[in-house]
Amino acid sequence: MALVNAICTSCNKTVEVDNSKEAWVCPHCSTPFIVEKAVKKYKSQHKEVARKVMAVKKNSNDFEIKDGVLTAYKGKADEVTVPGEVHKIGDHVFENNTGLKNIIIHDKVESIGEYAFRGCTALEKIKFPDSIKEIGTWAFRGCTSLKELVLPPQLRSITDCLFADCSSLESVEFPPMLTEIGAFSFSGCKSLKAVEIPKYVAQMGKYAFSGCEKIEKVAIPEGVSQLEECAFANCTALSVVGLPKGLKSIGASAFQNCTALRNIEIPAGVLSVDGFRGCTGLRAIEIPAGVTALGDFSGCINLESIRIPASVKKVSGGFNDCPKLMNISWSNLSDNASNFPSYYETVVAGRKTAGKCVYCGGDFKLLSKVCKVCGKKKDY
Ligand SMILES: [Zn+2]
Ligand SMILES: [Zn+2]
Repeated sequence: MALVNAICTSCNKTVEVDNSKEAWVCPHCSTPFIVEKAVKKYKSQHKEVARKVMAVKKNSNDFEIKDGVLTAYKGKADEVTVPGEVHKIGDHVFENNTGLKNIIIHDKVESIGEYAFRGCTALEKIKFPDSIKEIGTWAFRGCTSLKELVLPPQLRSITDCLFADCSSLESVEFPPMLTEIGAFSFSGCKSLKAVEIPKYVAQMGKYAFSGCEKIEKVAIPEGVSQLEECAFANCTALSVVGLPKGLKSIGASAFQNCTALRNIEIPAGVLSVDGFRGCTGLRAIEIPAGVTALGDFSGCINLESIRIPASVKKVSGGFNDCPKLMNISWSNLSDNASNFPSYYETVVAGRKTAGKCVYCGGDFKLLSKVCKVCGKKKDY
């Protein structure tokens, strides 16, 4: 058997097939196809790219090339083929080129520079050759016509802001060996429907998927120990989140305004929990034993109950505008009750009126005015 490249006849993605077989099932779309046809398709597409590369005029005034790096493009074509001698598309080359619809990149190109296609608002598709190893920061930010992406297999890192504000982007296929997803990399991709984060990803930057309004579920890979600030903020359709066992901290506003989130299981081993402000769908939350820092839960207007372990000694605010939060299970609650304004107003006011201990609701000893249950003095 020999593995060769082919193109799936239903989804058009490149796949490796065993060419001694008659049929093969596409790993991307699960559709079976005829091996011979798919291999032919691959060859003809490669021929097509090669033909277009050959057709690029030598010494064309449209391109400036220095030591194999494309440094400028001065033409106005809506389809541009990268010249054969180029191995890198330089920084800013097509930035804000709003006429560019399609770019043909051959398989000698290994990297794409920073801001290279930023603001190419007409760019509808891009087929990355397998040779691409690096794509610079901001390279495709604001490419508002891009619909789908299959990232090249050798790419290890998605750089900061790479695909931010690609508002039409519906699907992304990540390379399997990816280890890093940069800050703001998919921020504002409001059409993105699903993401499957590859298992070796260990770093995810702040705001990485913020404002991805269509994503419904996400599983964070095992190697991620820290969820950064606003990583999934304003993902208003997100309802299923799988957090990894090795997680240590959930950063500020990580899930802020994820209004569809009804429950979340925080794994044991987490030390710091923040990031759920404005999660109006949350009904109950359980903070695992060992957590020492608890952040902001303001605006969780439907949160009814919370369980907090004794390892949390203090909260400094953070439960404002949680009108239904009356069921608080926490051994240190009595000293922190005023940090839960609704609870405090309802429960504490009721205890005062009834002449009971404000901390625990117990009765006072008649003469000393000390609570029979918790031992605290009557202080009102
Ligand atoms: Zn397919
Ligand atoms: Zn008491």
